[in-house]
Order: sequence, then structure tokens, then C-alpha cells
Amino acid sequence: MPFQMPEALNFKQELTGAFGQPIAENPTQAMMEAAYAHHGLEWRYLSIEVEPADLKAAVAGAKAMGFVGFNCTIPHKVAVIEYLDGLGESAELMGAVNCVVRRGTEWIGENTDGKGFLESVAGRMDVNDKRVVLFGAGGAARAISVELALEGVSHITIVNRSVSRGGSLTELLQGRVRETTGGRLTAEFVPWQCAYEVPQDTDLVINATSIGLFPDTEAVVEVEYESLQSRMLVADVIPNPPRTRFLERAADRGCEIIDGLEMLVAQGAIGIRHWAGIDADTRVMRESLERVFSV
Ligand code: NDP
Repeated sequence: MPFQMPEALNFKQELTGAFGQPIAENPTQAMMEAAYAHHGLEWRYLSIEVEPADLKAAVAGAKAMGFVGFNCTIPHKVAVIEYLDGLGESAELMGAVNCVVRRGTEWIGENTDGKGFLESVAGRMDVNDKRVVLFGAGGAARAISVELALEGVSHITIVNRSVSRGGSLTELLQGRVRETTGGRLTAEFVPWQCAYEVPQDTDLVINATSIGLFPDTEAVVEVEYESLQSRMLVADVIPNPPRTRFLERAADRGCEIIDGLEMLVAQGAIGIRHWAGIDADTRVMRESLERVFSV
């Protein structure tokens, strides 16, 4: 009598993951697999080290192995675009992809970083017509500012150390992004040379630099902290540690604060929505990261 497998058993798991270099310290796997287990999905999220020269082969491998989708992190967010069939609106505007989604036979690049940030703000502030001060002009700042613009903020001040990156992000916002939003947005660039005094008509203040990231946890975002008013909402993208010096000082000024874990969890949940079509439990995801970071 030949062996017959009972119908209920299934040893094939759906595959997702992250391609990056370095990847070992990226905690995304912990929160994604916690969500999969919580929702009874027999899915895996693999942290995969991919060298830039191997990205093409890695994408072909993901397609060949039937991945549902995958995240791209440093240094692949721009380079991956040439191996995809199309881009979502904001990924196209930013020129960067952090989440690849299989839709039928096509592989589409999305950017969930800025959308994750928007979700972390959503319960606290309607950003429509609001004025924003954003520290930083790298990948995170780019993603956040483009999504805020698409969501209807009226003004964004980019404060950045290097003039080249600050200027080029401001140009993008004033040019293509402003056009896409019907000409409502205004953007300006302020070179960051000393402690920045936040204008009193600001609604939302965001640190999107890497200042304060572990192990440099004592590093300070150079702001005139007395210029922060309690009516301002203050956010930090740094996930580790979640309670940065920047947020501590903002909280001391009476501001409501949003930590970087909220954005990290929210962008992961958007990825799961793209891949599995479910709204993952973000509490379970956050708890898994708090265990990882021992907070
Ligand atoms: P990039 O390297 O692209 O950009 C870094 C930014 O930080 C630049 O604007 C850089 O300015 C600025 N910066 C770094 N050090 C200093 C300093 N000492 N003084 C002033 N400015 C400084 O990085 P990303 O934008 O990709 O990432 C930034 C941070 O965001 C990282 O810490 C990352 O962990 C976090 N992040 C969090 C996410 C989340 O979900 N919570 C998602 C994505 C990122 P300059 O142009 O002058 O070099």
C-alpha cells in the first residue's frame, strides 16, 4: 500500500523576506513572523544577505521560488526598480522601493516607509493643511515628506546638514510632488548649522535623521527645545531605542510624541496587507519588537 498523505497536512510555506546588506541586525523578521503566527499563517519571513552585484539573481530567485513578495532595504531600494514590472505612485515619485508585491504575474514596487509614518500619525492629527518641520533629507525623510505632501500638508521645511541632499529633496517637493498635488504644497530648505528654532506656526516636527540610533543614543538633535510648544506633535523615526533624547525633551515641553517603533510596525503591517490581504494585529508586532529591544 503506497503512503498517502492526509489532506490536512501541508509542509509548503509561503515565502516573504528582506534583501539587504547588512541584514543581520534588521529586526523586521521578529515582528512579521509574530504576526504570521498570530493570524495562523504558515508563512516565513527570511532575512537574506544580498550583495549589490547579486541583486538581479536574488530577484530572479524570489520569482522562481514563488515568493509572495519581499522587502528591500539598504542598499537595494533604488537598484531593485530595474527588475520590477511597475511602481506604486509614491514609490515612483520617490524613486525608491522598500516593498515588492507579486500581483498576478507582475512584480510591483511600493514604498511603505512614509505610509507607515502616516498611519502612526493618523490617530493623533489630520495632516491636511498642516505645517511640518522635517530634520533630515535621506531615504526616510524622502519617503515621509512625499507621503505627507500627497496627504495634503500645506508646507514642509527641510532642515538638513548637507546642502546637496537637503536641496535635492526640496527641489523634488517643489517640483514633481507639488505638481502631483495640484500646486498646494510649498517647501523650503534650511541648512542646519546651529540649534534650529522651530517656527511657532508649526504643527508637526519630525526627526528623520539617524541621530540617536543605537549605539549613539546620547547624540542630540540640535533644536532650540524652548521653541517646541505643547500643541506641536513630535515624531522620531529611530526605532532603537524607541525613547530617544529628542522625544524625551519634546515630552518635557508637553508635546505629544510618536516613537520610531510605531512607524516600523505600521510599515510592516502595510506590507502584510499587500501580501496577505489581512490587517495584522499591530499590538502583537510591537510587543515582539519590544522584546527584541528589551523595552
Ligand atoms: P540616510 O543615510 O539616507 O539619511 C541619513 C540622514 O541623517 C541624512 O539626512 C543625514 O544628513 C542625517 N544625519 C546623519 N547623521 C547626522 C548628524 N550627525 N548630524 C546631522 N544630520 C545627520 O538614512 P535613512 O534616511 O535611510 O535612515 C535614517 C534613520 O531612519 C535611520 O536611523 C533608520 O534606522 C531610520 N528609519 C526608521 C524607519 C522606521 O520604520 N522607524 C524606516 C526607515 C528608516 P546628511 O545629508 O547631512 O548626511
